Amino acid sequence: MSSEKATAIVLKVVEFSETSSICTLFTREFGKIHALAKGARRPKGPFESALDLLAYCHVVFLRKSSGALDLLTEAKLQRRFRPPGRDLSCLYAGYYVAELLTELTDDYDPHAPLFDLADQVLQELARGGPVSLLVLRFELAALAILGHLPSLNTCVECGTPVAQAGRVAFGMLVGGVLCANCKSGKRQVVSISGSTLQAMTALTDLQTESWREINLEPRSRGELRGLMRNYVAHMLGHKPRMHEWLS
Ligand SMILES: [Zn+2]
Repeated sequence: MSSEKATAIVLKVVEFSETSSICTLFTREFGKIHALAKGARRPKGPFESALDLLAYCHVVFLRKSSGALDLLTEAKLQRRFRPPGRDLSCLYAGYYVAELLTELTDDYDPHAPLFDLADQVLQELARGGPVSLLVLRFELAALAILGHLPSLNTCVECGTPVAQAGRVAFGMLVGGVLCANCKSGKRQVVSISGSTLQAMTALTDLQTESWREINLEPRSRGELRGLMRNYVAHMLGHKPRMHEWLS
C-alpha cells in the first residue's frame, strides 16, 4: 500500500456512513480514483471543505490493491467552483464537465491534458465566460485528447477529402463526414453546414486558441449543439444526464 500525492478535481461525493464519504476524483497524475474519506462528514473533519463538487484540491491517498477503495488521508482545497451570480447554466455546465470526465475515462488511466482542459474550462465558467462555447470546447477538445474525434474533413468511409462548405453529410454511427458516394444507404446521417464543421475543427484544435475567435451565428450554434448531443449519446451508448439541462 503506497501513499500518493495528486492534484484533483472532485467529481462526486456520496455519503457512506454517518461520518464518512466515498468520493470520485479525477487526478492529474493517476486519472480517476475512488476513495473512502473517513470523517469527511464530521463538522470539523480532516478534509475541511475540500470535498466539494468540482473543487480543485491537493490530495494524499493510500492506494489499495485492485478492487478495494483507495483511502483518502488528506485533501487541501485550492479553489472552489462557484458560478457567478445565480447562473444555473454555468452550474449545469460544470456538472456536465464532471459527468463527461466520469463517463469518458477509466480508473487509473491518467490524461494530464484532459485534466488541464477541464481545469481551464471550469475556471472560465466560474469567471462568467461564454457557457455554450465553453461546453462545446470541452466536449470537442476532450474527444480529441481521448481519440474519439469524428472525422471532420475526410470521408470516414473512403478517406476522400470533403470540403467544409455548403451542406455536408455527417454519419452519427460511422463517426464523421461522408462523401457523396458513401452517404447513400447509411443510417443516421444528418446534414450540417460547412461553417459548423469549420467551427468544430477550431474547437478541437489543442495547439491553438483559435476557438476563441469563433463567432457562431445562432443557427449554427443550435446545429452544433444538436450534433454534439447525438454524437456524445451515441458514443456513450446512453444520453448523459446533464444533456437536458444544457440549453
Ligand atoms: Zn467516401
